[in-house]
Amino acid sequence: MTTPIFLYYDARMLGHNPHGWDPGNPEWSDAVKAMIALQYPDSSLATYTHPERPERLTAIVDRLYLEPIEGVRWMLPVAASTAQLERAHDAAYVAYIQSLDNQSGWLAKDTTAVSPGSVAAADLAAGSGISAIDAVATGQTRRAFCIVRPPGHHALADRAMGFCLYNNMAVTAAHARKVLGDARIMIWDWDMHHGNGTQAIFYADPNVLVVDSHCAAPFYPGTGLLAETGSGAGVGYHLNVPLPKGFGNAALLEVFEQVVSPAARAFRPDILLISNGFDCHYLDMTCAMDETGYAAITQRMCTLADELCDGRLVMLLEGGYNAQALADSAHAVVGALAGNAIPAINVLPVDEGCAAVTEAGLFHAGAIASLGHRVAP
Ligand SMILES: [Zn+2]
Repeated sequence: MTTPIFLYYDARMLGHNPHGWDPGNPEWSDAVKAMIALQYPDSSLATYTHPERPERLTAIVDRLYLEPIEGVRWMLPVAASTAQLERAHDAAYVAYIQSLDNQSGWLAKDTTAVSPGSVAAADLAAGSGISAIDAVATGQTRRAFCIVRPPGHHALADRAMGFCLYNNMAVTAAHARKVLGDARIMIWDWDMHHGNGTQAIFYADPNVLVVDSHCAAPFYPGTGLLAETGSGAGVGYHLNVPLPKGFGNAALLEVFEQVVSPAARAFRPDILLISNGFDCHYLDMTCAMDETGYAAITQRMCTLADELCDGRLVMLLEGGYNAQALADSAHAVVGALAGNAIPAINVLPVDEGCAAVTEAGLFHAGAIASLGHRVAP
């Protein structure tokens, strides 16, 4: 690795700070209160802040500043343009989000809301992926991590959802398609939640291969079944790996071994993109990974990128709501991106996710085998 690891971050993304309740929709407020009570049992609803809060990013950035990693370069993103956003979103939806600039309001009952700084933050979050792709395309770096919020993978082409305004990954992948020359894109979304927005946007697109490992439905957002494999020309290019609650590091390593790695070798992508949620960490919601697992799957993805696509790998932050888990995991991931030795991997005595991965691997075996036949050399 001769190029630095680029980390994209801009403090203006802290300006996305929705808080307060929605008096017009008391049931929506009740849903947030329930989430906060689950996620932050020691916090008071009187001092409410939204679960997707600015401290998520400062926890990560503070740790990386306090314990710097050699080979890292901090970069400022350029905000996404309207035209760049419209590659993944309907023009009317982009105009709607832009109309919310400097306003507060709730957009969806699943607690998606905006504050006066949200639109600028969303432009920068999507723009971080674009900036990273441009840096990769021009050879300034091979590996980048975009430390962004609001997250993106639930956002649909025409609708905000699940804390997400723009689908940062879809905007990034669409940009990569363009600047890397009709490139083949492979995405692994390892956030604990299914990336329903990313799936919907690329569902019929055979140029974007998506592997999505997540807590199985009915867990939010309730999609991501094995049988959701794409539509039209995109059939076989969407490989969901639904997992039981409580899965750990071993399960995600098996996702890599049984699905991601063989699919990538068959598809031969020009770049690997990762929707990186740290909410599979045991300190977060219901799963049992830790930073050693995140480091290990990052290292394996770097090795795969080196083998298949000249090392090109861009990672975008998605979820993760526990400050300690975010800081520990992000530091471990950046260390792995920088090529540092990774720590020993902690594994559960029994990881119930592994059997589900095997089931998914068998289910997708035919689609993975056919990827190699369908892709032109
Ligand atoms: Zn998530």
